[in-house]
Amino acid sequence: MRPTIDATPLAHSLPLSSRPAALDPSAPPAASAAHVSATPNVLFVDQSGQLGGAEFALLELAGSCVTRSEVVLLSDGPFRTRLEAIGARVQVMNDARVSGIVRQASGLNCLRVVPGILRQVRAIAQRARAFDVLFLNTQKALVLGALGKPLHRRPVIWYQHDILTREHFGRAQLTVVKWLVRFAVDLVVANSQASANSLAALTGIDVQRVPVIYNGIGAGAFGRFDGTDVAALRRRLGLPEQAWLAGLFGRLAPWKGQHVALDALARLPDAHLVLVGAPLFGEDAYAQRLRDQAAALGIADRVHFAGFQDDVPAWMKAMDVILHTSTEPEPFGRVIVEGMAAVKPVIAAAAGGVTEIVRHGKNGWLVKPGDVAALAEAIGVLRADPSMAQRLATQAQIDAHTEFSMERYVQRMTQAIGQAAR
Ligand code: UDP
Repeated sequence: MRPTIDATPLAHSLPLSSRPAALDPSAPPAASAAHVSATPNVLFVDQSGQLGGAEFALLELAGSCVTRSEVVLLSDGPFRTRLEAIGARVQVMNDARVSGIVRQASGLNCLRVVPGILRQVRAIAQRARAFDVLFLNTQKALVLGALGKPLHRRPVIWYQHDILTREHFGRAQLTVVKWLVRFAVDLVVANSQASANSLAALTGIDVQRVPVIYNGIGAGAFGRFDGTDVAALRRRLGLPEQAWLAGLFGRLAPWKGQHVALDALARLPDAHLVLVGAPLFGEDAYAQRLRDQAAALGIADRVHFAGFQDDVPAWMKAMDVILHTSTEPEPFGRVIVEGMAAVKPVIAAAAGGVTEIVRHGKNGWLVKPGDVAALAEAIGVLRADPSMAQRLATQAQIDAHTEFSMERYVQRMTQAIGQAAR
């Protein structure tokens, strides 16, 4: 069950755990003139200059309110360029020492970067004072933005894109998140029920107090290729025209499970695998291991390393099936919904937020995470039965449009921001 709407303003002085639920995802958007005129000015903060799923989600949101918002990035990169291209105001506050904090940060690591952290906390707080709401989009942004609450005294929203467990994060990091969420965050919005459940388990907060807002995927970008000649598209992308192509999209990282897809491909004699994505956060050794693995399996001629691509809809349209192979629970999985919007059959690893998106045998196919034999078998089943694959893809497109539309995502987020600001 989801939280119900609360017409009373949020009491910012109360910790999140004792506050009323803030948002009803099924409620109609607030669209009155009064609401629009009261639309708050938002300072968004994100730690990454790279384009991961959280950044694409923020790109759309920031794009919907460029005149009333600014984005602070804690490191520079192509994300800044993309934000500026849509007219967003961007400020990069990079501190090399703080950027050095890694996911599995130890207590000692954290101590060394305290001076840098304090500088960034102050800088963000100073900027936040010019806005009505502080919207924190990543965990490092949460830490730096929420710690400064006594200085900026602005309502804080955290969009939680992670499943907060020890498989993914260090003990020290989880402890910091736990206490900040309890005492310095006014509203947490989770990107899936799986993410919300992990927050509830970590903090003891009632899960009903954590609204779930799924990422939205713009259908227009995928509709561009309706009726496209797939052979011509493949020629343009440098892919084999006649081969049966499985596409796996996402950054190259061990937990994204590209190695599982390679092992499955070795069991499927003439299928090809296209890996679209790059190692974004220092996983270059894994990228090399994948190439070595393909060579060792004798399938290098059937594996295409496409690198990072901007035009994901085009690449998805060129595929026969879209794979998702994460070996750990995926908090959401934009690439799955994108495959659905591209009207492709999707085979996905059944864990985390994925099971909130894919209904096995209805709008896609679920397999056990990390199970090579099950993945190879699923690919074989869909390949052998094109009409079933088409039926799944048709339903997938309907679900992508109804459940994960961009309009719905932006409306609900705008509603959440408005509510937190009141
Ligand atoms: N993506 C992209 N180009 C690539 C590979 C991935 O633009 O070459 C995009 C992809 O379309 C998706 C996002 O990166 O929107 C990845 O989001 P997802 O939720 O699947 O994974 P995350 O990065 O959050 O772990």
